[in-house]
Amino acid sequence: MSSAKNALFGGIEAGGTKFVCAIGDADGRVILESRFSTRDPVATFRDVFDFFRAARAEHGELEAYGIASFGPLNINPRSAGYGRVTSTPKPGWSDFDLRGVLVREFGKPVGIDTDVNAAGLAEARWGNGVGLPSLVYVTVGTGLGVGIIYQGQPLLGLTHPEMGHIHVRRHPRDLQFAGVCPFHGDCLEGLACGPAIVARTGRSLAEASDADEIWEIEADYLGQLCAQLVSTVSPHRILLGGGVMQQERLFGLMRARMRHWLGSYNVQPEIHEDGFLRAPGLGNQAGVKGALALAMDAASRGSQ
Ligand code: ADP
Ligand code: ZN
Repeated sequence: MSSAKNALFGGIEAGGTKFVCAIGDADGRVILESRFSTRDPVATFRDVFDFFRAARAEHGELEAYGIASFGPLNINPRSAGYGRVTSTPKPGWSDFDLRGVLVREFGKPVGIDTDVNAAGLAEARWGNGVGLPSLVYVTVGTGLGVGIIYQGQPLLGLTHPEMGHIHVRRHPRDLQFAGVCPFHGDCLEGLACGPAIVARTGRSLAEASDADEIWEIEADYLGQLCAQLVSTVSPHRILLGGGVMQQERLFGLMRARMRHWLGSYNVQPEIHEDGFLRAPGLGNQAGVKGALALAMDAASRGSQ
């Protein structure tokens, strides 16, 4: 498979509310981009195919495609259901063969991974994780997702890890809240995602003030996540993005809570530097650039 400098790739960021399609070059530069709302799979993929048909007419053939999708997904290449959405409350999408539909349409290599793994991959390659042997990417928005990148690739077990759904110790002033996760109630996502904050305060997050206790509670839960990440995968850095992390006060509070939960046990001095927990570098382009990175990796593997 050619990895010529002028090769072009297709990327699709498949989100629960919107799809972003792009073509880009081998440096992850986006050349053309379009976004549209997510509907049922047939209507949505009609728009995807229209975009790439027009893009190829203008820019020429694409080497490979990558899709960075909402989960849960089957991303195990050795499994019969590889590339399918598994069970989701989104109407029409359960068991949908995301990767298969692209292979059949384009006849080119297609890479697939979760949106958080892909965003982490893009950060490792072109953003705030360049040059690090390991990196964790966390997004705290409508949901809470965690992507673990190890030696340049997302960590893959039987399938992708789901660290957003771990259970954390309840904050003593947050014992009554039931949590909003549809599967577990008060797992980490159920306690710390954007809608969980709004459910407690009844106000939009942009209106929240520094004095609001909710930020201490939020930082405690995120601090627990970071401490657990340090203890389980020992990453070189943790990037935290998404709508909720626009509240920059969280970073300082969270560092203190991570330190609290680790206690004096972990002696690695790097984890106490300010840069260990930081914002991503690619902003809202991480997802689509991640999809391009998946396309490039699929092209270098060469198989469909
Ligand atoms: P998504 O997770 O849907 O891809 P975002 O990462 O932008 O999108 O997250 C959206 C969520 O982030 C909203 O549900 C809201 O609760 C929260 N949010 C949006 N803006 C802010 C803000 N300024 N401060 C804190 N939280 C915010
Ligand atoms: Zn959950």
